[in-house]
Amino acid sequence: MRSTAHDADVIIIGAGIAGLSAAHLLTGAGVGVSVLEAASTVGGRLATQEVDGFRLDQLGPLLCTSWPELTATPGLGTPELREFAPGVLVHSEGRRHRTGDIRSARGALRAVRARSSAPQASPGGYGGHLRIASLSGLGARSSALRNTATMAEAIDRARLGAALSRLAATPTARLLARPERTALAALRAGQMPARTVDGVLRPLLSALLGDPGLTTSSRYADLALRDYARGGLCVPAGGSGTLPDLLAAALPPGTVRTGVHVTAADITTVRTKEHGELGCRSLLLATGAGAAAELLPGLRVPEFRPVTVLHHTAPAPPPTGRSLVLDGDRSGPVAYTAVMSEVDPSRAPEGRALVTSTVLGTPPPDLDRSVRTHLAALYGMPTGDWELLAAHHDPEAVPAMEAPHDPRRPVRVLAGLYVCGDHRDTSSVQGALHSGRRAAEAILTDLGVAPAHPGGARLPEAA
Ligand SMILES: Cc1cc2nc3c(=O)[nH]c(=O)nc-3n(C[C@H](O)[C@H](O)[C@H](O)COP(=O)(O)OP(=O)(O)OC[C@H]3O[C@@H](n4cnc5c(N)ncnc54)[C@H](O)[C@@H]3O)c2cc1C
Repeated sequence: MRSTAHDADVIIIGAGIAGLSAAHLLTGAGVGVSVLEAASTVGGRLATQEVDGFRLDQLGPLLCTSWPELTATPGLGTPELREFAPGVLVHSEGRRHRTGDIRSARGALRAVRARSSAPQASPGGYGGHLRIASLSGLGARSSALRNTATMAEAIDRARLGAALSRLAATPTARLLARPERTALAALRAGQMPARTVDGVLRPLLSALLGDPGLTTSSRYADLALRDYARGGLCVPAGGSGTLPDLLAAALPPGTVRTGVHVTAADITTVRTKEHGELGCRSLLLATGAGAAAELLPGLRVPEFRPVTVLHHTAPAPPPTGRSLVLDGDRSGPVAYTAVMSEVDPSRAPEGRALVTSTVLGTPPPDLDRSVRTHLAALYGMPTGDWELLAAHHDPEAVPAMEAPHDPRRPVRVLAGLYVCGDHRDTSSVQGALHSGRRAAEAILTDLGVAPAHPGGARLPEAA
C-alpha cells in the first residue's frame, strides 16, 4: 500500500488511545501509517507519572470491566486489569456501608426475609409507620429503631441490586429508546426511594460521568450505569499509561513520532513545527476536541468538565481495602477516593499506601487542605500526616455529554479526511477506543482495503 509520493498513506495526528487504536487497525490491514504526537510520550490524557516509586495516573480510575474495547482492541491483547471490590462503599452520616453490588442483591433479600420472620424481628414496616407501642423501655425502643433502620438499608440495597441486575440485562437499543433528559431528572423520575437516589445513585453516577451536577444526557447515564452493573470497576495494572504503551509497542517500529507538533493540516499535507511539510493520502485528526477544531475550523467543540486528581501517601493504608469510596452526603470536595495500593499493589513501593482522590468541577482554592479534611471524615482517620505526592488538574478532562447527545458522531468528514477521539463518541476510554475503531473502518472502506480483523470490527455496544 505504501506510496513513494507520500510520507505515509495515512497520517494520524495525536497518539492518545483513539489515534493509537486506529493506527493499529490500519497497519494490521497493510496501510502505511505515521502517527505524529506533539508531546514527548504517547498516551495523551492516559499518562502515568512515576514519582518516588509510585505510579500516578493523571486521570480518574474508573474503567468498567465490561467495556468491550478494553479486552478486544487489537494491539492491547488482554491487558491486566485490577478490579475494585464489588459495589461501592458509601459514607453517610458518619459511617460507611457497601451497596450497588448486584451479586449481593439476593443475599440482602435473604437477610431481610430472615429478619422479618425471626421472633425478635423489627416491629415496623419498611417506609411505613413504626409500630413500637408493644415494646417497653428506651433500650428496646432504640434497639427496635436500629433494627428497623438496618432492615430498611438491607431492603434498599436489595432493591438497588435488583434494579442494577435488570439494567445489566437491558440491551443498548432499549436504553437509547428511552426519553432523553438530564441524568438527574431521570433519576428523580425513577422508582427508587429518594434516599437511594440522593445517597447512592447520585454520587455513583457523578463519579462515572465526571459530572457533579448530573446534567449529562440520561441515555448516556443509563449506558454508564448499565456497563458498571455488568461487571464493576477496574484499573489497568501499573497505571492507565500501560494501555497506550501496549498499543504503541505493538505498532511497526517508527510508526509513532513523538515531539512533532502539527500546526496546520489538510487531506494531503500536514505542516509541522519541527519537520516542515509531510504528505499523505488521508488524514485522521485524533487530538482532543479543542485541538481538532483549531486544525479543522468548524468542527464542534463541546463544553468540558474539569477534573482534579490528587495522590497522597499515608503511613498506613486506610481500612477500606479495594473499595471505591463515595460520599453519600456530598459534604466536601472529594467525589470519590480509593486506596489504590490495595486495588493495584504495583502502583506503590512495598509497604507504602497510595490514596487517590478525585475532585469534580472547579476545585476549591485551598485544595489539599480541604481534600485532607474531607478524606479524614470519609476514611475515619487523621490525615494530617499524609503526604501529597501529586495533584493534576485538567480543565478539559471530559467533554460534556448534554442532551441531546449523539454517541456516534460521524468520524468521516469527507473522503480522505477523518476525525476520532472521545468527543466523537462517549467521553471515556471505551468511547475513545471505539471512535478510533470507527475511523479506521471508514478509512479502510474508502481506500478499498479489507480489514485484518473483520470479526473484531463489530463489537457489542457499550457506553
Ligand atoms: C483528569 C481526568 C480524569 C478522567 N477520568 C476518566 C475515567 O475515570 N474513566 C474514563 O473512562 N475516562 C476518564 N477520562 C477521560 C479519558 O482520559 C479520555 O476520554 C481519553 O483518554 C481520550 O483519549 P483520546 O485519544 O480521545 O484523546 P487524548 O488522550 O487527549 O489524545 C490526544 C493526543 O493528541 C495530541 N495532540 C493534540 N494536538 C496536537 C497537535 N497539534 N499535534 C500533534 N499532537 C497533538 C495530544 O498531545 C494527545 O496526546 C479522564 C480524563 C482526565 C483528564
